[in-house]
Amino acid sequence: MLERHDLCRARVFYAILVLPLTGLLVSADPYAAERERMVREQIESRGIRGAELLRVLRATPRHLFVPIASRPMAYDDHAVPIGYGATISQPYIVALMTELLAPAKKHRVLEIGTGSGYQAAVLSQLAQRVYTIEIVPELAESARGILSDLGYRNVTVRQGDGYKGWPEQAPFDGIMLTAAPPEVPQTLIDQLAKGGRLVAPVGLGWDQELVLIEKDASGRLRRRSAGGVVFVPMRSGGP
Ligand code: SAH
Repeated sequence: MLERHDLCRARVFYAILVLPLTGLLVSADPYAAERERMVREQIESRGIRGAELLRVLRATPRHLFVPIASRPMAYDDHAVPIGYGATISQPYIVALMTELLAPAKKHRVLEIGTGSGYQAAVLSQLAQRVYTIEIVPELAESARGILSDLGYRNVTVRQGDGYKGWPEQAPFDGIMLTAAPPEVPQTLIDQLAKGGRLVAPVGLGWDQELVLIEKDASGRLRRRSAGGVVFVPMRSGGP
């Protein structure tokens, strides 16, 4: 049995040490509850089941990848503008495209359209290395900064035209486009390893579909559609 003064001491201990510590933990990530809700209500409920992917989505602070004014909507069920005509994709679409790409710890992955850097951060926790190309210099710069500040060390950001891919680092086990070309560029298909997967929104204007291309061990391609999507168009950076 606790003596009265022991109880009193326990309360003081709780008030002085435990409460402030809890407060610190909560204020360290004020969006933890929203992120948990995002994963449950937008992603698990729509059939995304991969345990590793769900763990990564729960661990990645999406709000830090959007402009400060947009943080309150960072976990909402839609894309959010990040400036320069770009958007951070809807959380479910990030999950779906990642699931289709099926990254593994030994994979080297190329992303076209770094934008905020969020998709690259998600991929970096599931693959060995991520190379990502962004055409807008300001976005490439800010994504490089946030990825490095948050400690995602296996991501390399290059400012340039994604239509050219990254020949020095090819072939890639996975290639993901997060801007929509009218058709999948042959250069990128050529940079895909045998046994690799390429995921891309393809089409013009509102008429886009999510495409998965698989290259088998003999180099043959198989293509299937995973439904309608809306992405910003992939710009041509010229010759
Ligand atoms: N994956 C991003 C979403 C990016 S939106 C994220 O997680 O936030 C699409 C991005 O593709 C935009 O930032 C746009 O500037 C970029 N983009 C468009 N055309 C491109 C091209 N040819 N090469 C590289 N990036 C391109």
